[in-house]
Amino acid sequence: MKLHAIQTGSVRIKTAQVEGRGRGLRRRLAVFPDRNWTKWLPTYAWVIDHPEGVIVVDTGQGTHLLESGKSLHPYMRWEVAFRIERDEEIGPQLRTLGIGPRDVKRVVLTHLHCDHDGGLAHFPQTEILVSRGELAMARGWMGRARGYLPNRWPSWFNPVPLDLLAEPFGPFAASRRLTTAGDVVAVATPGHTRDHISVVVEDQGTTFFLAGDTSYDERLMLAGRLDGVSADDDVAGATLRAIRHLAKNRPTVYLPTHDPESAARLASRSLAAA
Ligand SMILES: [Zn+2]
Repeated sequence: MKLHAIQTGSVRIKTAQVEGRGRGLRRRLAVFPDRNWTKWLPTYAWVIDHPEGVIVVDTGQGTHLLESGKSLHPYMRWEVAFRIERDEEIGPQLRTLGIGPRDVKRVVLTHLHCDHDGGLAHFPQTEILVSRGELAMARGWMGRARGYLPNRWPSWFNPVPLDLLAEPFGPFAASRRLTTAGDVVAVATPGHTRDHISVVVEDQGTTFFLAGDTSYDERLMLAGRLDGVSADDDVAGATLRAIRHLAKNRPTVYLPTHDPESAARLASRSLAAA
């Protein structure tokens, strides 16, 4: 098995989104008046080149996001900026790795925020898995009101709803195997979105945690600091605790989507110092 990081452009957000201030609704509203932007952060997607077939986790950004400034949604208009060239989208980068679109057996999305589902157009023939609750939250006008971009989904987009089972995986209450070998497992990591999932890959004694947006970087996970997006403080805090618990009990490489260190940590198999 081989794991690849693919950087699909970059994103800037407000510092109060990366590290929340205060609690609850106050923490979430603090993003809007914040005048401080992060530097450009990478947006990674992940490729699991597995003997049972290639699995792609998240599809990253697409060039359509460059028009997000025209969006009516206040978050999309004022609180986020994207940078991406057409050849940085996931499709062309997979081809550079020698992986054609038909070689991908499955796409799994950690959640449906636009910088994770932005490359869907490259996978018209692929089975796409999305947690059932996430799909319900992102659909239609209510989804748009929540800041999702279902209007940007390809017309053919009809993902397979993923239902996690009440089978604990380490400290995670619900999970679902994604390979017969059981070495790639989706786990419930609610917080950033209510039905957010992460993907755990076990390879030669090391656990690779494809975290999505459970935190924006490793330091925040280790410190138990919530982002400015998560709806429920207790739920999001419990997820970060579970990740630390995992990292304490097995050698774990923690790979959040927007951590500038993620690709280097994957390359050097650097463990989270929980
Ligand atoms: Zn997100």
